[in-house]
Amino acid sequence: MHAIEAARLYFDKAADHLGLSSNMRTLLLVPEREVKVQIALEMDNGEIGTFIGFRVQHNSARGPLKGGLRYHHEVDGDEVTVLASLMTWKTAVVNLPYGGAKGGIAIDVRKLSATELEKITRKFVDEIHDVVGPDKDIPAPDMGTNSQVMAWFMNQYSKYHGFSPAVVTGKPLELHGSEGREEATGRGVVTVTKALLERSGRQLAGATVALQGFGNVGSFAARFFHDGGAKIVAVSDQFGGVSNPAGLDIPALLAHARDNKAGVKGFSGGQSITNSELLAAEVDLLVPAALGGVLTAANARDVRAKFIIEAANHPTHPDADEIFNQREIVVLPDILANAGGVTVSYFEWVQNQQHFRWDLAKVRQELDRIMVESFDKVWTMATEKHVSLRTAAYIIGLGRVGRATVLGGI
Ligand code: NAD
Repeated sequence: MHAIEAARLYFDKAADHLGLSSNMRTLLLVPEREVKVQIALEMDNGEIGTFIGFRVQHNSARGPLKGGLRYHHEVDGDEVTVLASLMTWKTAVVNLPYGGAKGGIAIDVRKLSATELEKITRKFVDEIHDVVGPDKDIPAPDMGTNSQVMAWFMNQYSKYHGFSPAVVTGKPLELHGSEGREEATGRGVVTVTKALLERSGRQLAGATVALQGFGNVGSFAARFFHDGGAKIVAVSDQFGGVSNPAGLDIPALLAHARDNKAGVKGFSGGQSITNSELLAAEVDLLVPAALGGVLTAANARDVRAKFIIEAANHPTHPDADEIFNQREIVVLPDILANAGGVTVSYFEWVQNQQHFRWDLAKVRQELDRIMVESFDKVWTMATEKHVSLRTAAYIIGLGRVGRATVLGGI
């Protein structure tokens, strides 16, 4: 199933509950603007490199557009469109005053030098600077991008429009970034997981975890799961995986992955495990925190976890989701589970607009409050309507966007 059709299925389930007309559905689904640009530059070896950059601006009914910028060789226009709509529902679920957007460039960052990455980022800004901006569309890091990329982005944009720190979030602390932004998505994942377990009569301490992905989201989630007393028994990334039924030594694994170009592979404190073995691990919590589309009809019946926490965007195909519902495996949906990142991005934007700094304690306190309040609303909706947490989150998100659209007028 195509990613766009899959996203449509989740959308329609909630739209049915809200009784949305087909015209309203079309209005909410069609992106406001799709930008596709050529990025041409001279590579380090003197040859010409040509790449394609995308920015999809899905819906701005609730405020300026917000969404990550992904550098990955599999980036394509359809995927960016789906991820942009996901951002619209996500910002609405956690009630941030934003719409949804997403961008990406189809490049393999591992094959590029820092100079080439900087040139590509600056060229991309040259092409799109008119359609982004602090009150228009505010990119942030996603897979393959980081605070350095955001620093280049802000610097290039400011050459056209004057000093504009609020044009991107996820910047370095030295360049108007926020305390707690780097850890935010992983922290938010663990905060809502804890709330889910407590509502389900369980607790985080002692829960076993299998985690796919050990990048920004996965590594910080691992740290907070570990701090909360959970036992992480398996971790994998693009290079391979490690497992240890007694629990992996997470501080040691973090140090290993940091010092080793091949990620978690080769860690001496566990046995080697493949990505498919990890997805089938017998654990309480399965946490996909890497690519989309990893849980499908082909492997959904192998999953033995009791809860799936969608730290990645769109990790579950709708047919797999249906199987999980039938098997009473609880899925905490991406538009809630990984919303901690955009929430602290919002705090960063607020600080930039106000030229004021929050300390880490305030960022964490506000993040935890928003995540727990949002979880409670989704849980209550799911209980009242007898629907999955995903459908409940979509009902809340679509409802807020739909009402803002109607109130604002078309
Ligand atoms: P990242 O680039 O920092 O890390 C990605 C991780 O996935 C790496 O450990 C990589 O090795 C692993 N990976 C890549 N291909 C894999 C494969 N085929 N099998 C197993 N592992 C693989 O990216 P990130 O920022 O941590 O983002 C991870 C996911 O979380 C993405 O789906 C992203 O859209 C989503 N997300 C990120 C944020 C954020 O703030 N960074 C916020 C919300 C959602």
